[in-house]
This record gives sequence, C-alpha cells and structure tokens, in this order.
Amino acid sequence: MKNKNTFNAYHQVIVVGAGIAGCTIAGELNRAGISVGIVERLSGPAKETSAHETALAHPQIGKKISKLQRFTQLANLLSTEKWQSAQMFRHAFEPIPSLDNIKMYQLKELINEMKYDEQTLKVITEKEAKLKTNIGLPGVWYEKAAIYSLPQICRQEIALLKKEAQYWGFKISKIEYMDNRWLVYSEDDKLICSAPVIILANGLGVQKLLKNVGIDLPVRPVRGQLSKFMIRNDSVLVPYLPKTALRGDGYCLPAVQEGNKDWTWEIGSSYDEDSTDQSPWSQSDISNAIKGLSLIGCDHSHIKEMHPISAFVGVRSASKDRLPMIGPIAAQPGLFVACCYGSRGVLWSALAAPLIRAYVESFLAGAVRLRAGFLTGACPTLSAEIASSVNPTRFLAGALGARASNSKPIFPES
Ligand SMILES: Cc1cc2nc3c(=O)[nH]c(=O)nc-3n(C[C@H](O)[C@H](O)[C@H](O)COP(=O)(O)OP(=O)(O)OC[C@H]3O[C@@H](n4cnc5c(N)ncnc54)[C@H](O)[C@@H]3O)c2cc1C
Repeated sequence: MKNKNTFNAYHQVIVVGAGIAGCTIAGELNRAGISVGIVERLSGPAKETSAHETALAHPQIGKKISKLQRFTQLANLLSTEKWQSAQMFRHAFEPIPSLDNIKMYQLKELINEMKYDEQTLKVITEKEAKLKTNIGLPGVWYEKAAIYSLPQICRQEIALLKKEAQYWGFKISKIEYMDNRWLVYSEDDKLICSAPVIILANGLGVQKLLKNVGIDLPVRPVRGQLSKFMIRNDSVLVPYLPKTALRGDGYCLPAVQEGNKDWTWEIGSSYDEDSTDQSPWSQSDISNAIKGLSLIGCDHSHIKEMHPISAFVGVRSASKDRLPMIGPIAAQPGLFVACCYGSRGVLWSALAAPLIRAYVESFLAGAVRLRAGFLTGACPTLSAEIASSVNPTRFLAGALGARASNSKPIFPES
C-alpha cells in the first residue's frame, strides 16, 4: 500500500531497495544524524531475497590467507557485535571426515597462521563433536558463527527511521541528476523524492537503474533454494540428526522436533547461475537432501527418509569475482551502489554500512573525488584495501574519472 508521503520530499540521502543491503545502510546513516529516505517497490522491508529467515554467517578458513578470508573475518566480527538479537541459532560445525592426525595438525597450524583464537574457531575431535553437535566426525567448531533472520535485521535497522522517510510500494523506474540532486521517479513518472546522494541497493535492479545514466554494470542473477524436510520420528536417520548448524558443501540448521512428533530439518542451498526462476524445483530438493546426508555422514540411499515440505527460493545478485560491489560510481557525483552480496548477505551488509557512511559523510562535507585512501582515517575498522577491492569501478573501463560513455565492463582475473 502506498503511504501518504509528500512527493518531492528532500533528504540528504535516498536509499533504493529495502533488503538487508538497503536497510542496514539506511539505519547506519540515520544513526549518524544524516537524513535518509528509503524507497521500496514492495509493501515493506525484507520481502524479496532478504525474506530469508535462516542465513548463516561464519569466519572463513582457506589454504591461503586470501582477501576474501580477511574481509570475511572482519565482517563476521562486525555482524556478531551488531546483530546478536537477530541470531536464531549460535555456533556452527564443519565436519571433515578425512581429518586424520597429520591433517589435524596441519589444519591447526593454518588456523594459528590466520590468527584465529579459540573463541572464534578451533579444530575438535570426533568425541568432542559428538557431544557438541551429535555428529560423530572431527572438524572445525565455529564459536563465532550464527544463523540470522534477515527480516529481523532489516526491521531493527529501520525502526528509528521517520515514517515519512519510508516509501513503500514505489517501484523506481528512473533516476536523474539535476541541479546537484538526484531525482527519483516511479513507474508512472511521478517524482517521489530527491537528494544530493543516492544509494542503489536494489539487488539485480541496480543494473537497470544505472542504465539511465549510461552505465553498464555487470550484475548476475544466481537463484538459490533452501529446502525444509520432514523426517519421521521412527526414521533410521533420527539418531544422526544435528543439534547445531553445520557447514561444508552447503549448510543446514539444527534438526527440530516439536514435542514427540516428527522432525523438521532445513538444508541449503542450490546455486543456479543465471536463473531468476522463483518457483521451487524438485531437483534442488534432491540436491539439498544429498548435501544434508553428506554433512551428517550418512549414506545417500537414506534420501527416501526425507520428505520435502517447503522451500525458500530467492535470487541473489552476484559479481564476476564474487566480491560485493560497494562504493561510488565514478564521474556520477553522489551516486553509490551496494549490491552483489551473493551468498554473504549478512557479512557484506555489516561491512558495507560503515563503508558507505564514511563515503557519504566525506561527500556531504564537500570531498570532490572519493578515493579509497581517505577511508583509512574516516573509519578505522576499514582499510583502503577493502574499499578499493569492493569498489564497483573495478568493473568499469577507465576506472576512477572515467566518463559514463566510456564505461564498458572489464572483468578482473577471478
Ligand atoms: C537460497 C539462499 C540462501 C542464502 N543463504 C545465505 C546465508 O546462509 N548467509 C548469508 O549471509 N546470505 C545468504 N543468502 C544471500 C542473502 O539472502 C542475500 O545476499 C541478501 O538477501 C541480498 O540482499 P539485498 O538487499 O542485496 O537484496 P534484496 O533482499 O533482494 O533487496 C533488494 C530490494 O530492492 C527492491 N527493489 C528492486 N528493484 C526496485 C526498484 N526499481 N524500486 C524500488 N525497489 C526495488 C526489491 O523489492 C528488494 O526488496 C542466501 C540467498 C539465497 C537465495
């Protein structure tokens, strides 16, 4: 339902899109005393991909200490601090069946090298794992990991926004820059609001709105399905069901039993590149069931014990190098994007909100060119390396200072 805002309202910042990307940025700016309006085509926050009620976030370990690993580590710390009240389950376990004594030693060395302490994650034995998780396999215990409700984060972030700054039910079809302000128009060509700064946080829709200003940013759709299964109380699988979230190839929630009844168990997710189909697929249920059986170390023939009862389907926006796109669009004053969070909506939101705030504060204070280096002083938790690595300009020819007409995408090595 459309609200009764005065059209043409003036804000310092307009955020387009009220998923986790848009809501967390709007919340952060509002808390910093910046007047922000949020515009969403649906009837409220978190109604599209961020309708996801059970998103996992955890620190990352890998064979080498990559950028992705370091950014994830920081983002996980930020999200744990910020959104404890939206955590549905805490902790996670990664079972690693092949972990013999030698591999366990090597893994511990790697974890030390990455400077993780035991309050963040640690290697545990089969016996410890059985006690903590009900899974009789060795692996990595993530103390600082959690399953989050994205709608709860969104609601919490925009709770303090004035009602007249929340524009529900307005699909933005055009943005235009005039007299130092961005003008935002709905499908019926009505001017909704305007501001010197606009942040496009509308997922896949970012690409379409940027075309208005002659920019072609490569944003890819990746469909995902999470499946919920019913498992009968007398099933042979029951003794093996997990009591914590598990991760590995996919992830699952703890299995839940209501009273003495049957069990439910949620497992995800498929990663279907270039598909935007929002309907549930039975082949995704099958692949999710197989992922779940692998995670708990059970034979795939037990798939017949798992009865699909419902599914969550969403379409992620993703970039070619799998890092998000967060930052200014070169040569377009006050135009920013925050999209391509892929399968890391929680983590990249925690990182994007302070990053965008640092940019916006600097822009509103009169900075002409927004170079990543300035951030080091503006926001101590964020490095210039993070800012430049996620800058959308990496996909535009000519990089900083390029004219829009010159903005053909270039893909970096992935
Ligand atoms: C199956 C699945 C499993 C996932 N698992 C995890 C997980 O375990 N952990 C994790 O962190 N992340 C996970 N994710 C990813 C996470 O859900 C996304 O990264 C996140 O929801 C993206 O948020 P967003 O705000 O960018 O997009 P969205 O939530 O889609 O928000 C964009 C908003 O913009 C609005 N909009 C679009 N166009 C316009 C327009 N023209 N005008 C106005 N409004 C517009 C839309 O209506 C929408 O509300 C998963 C995703 C899927 C699909």
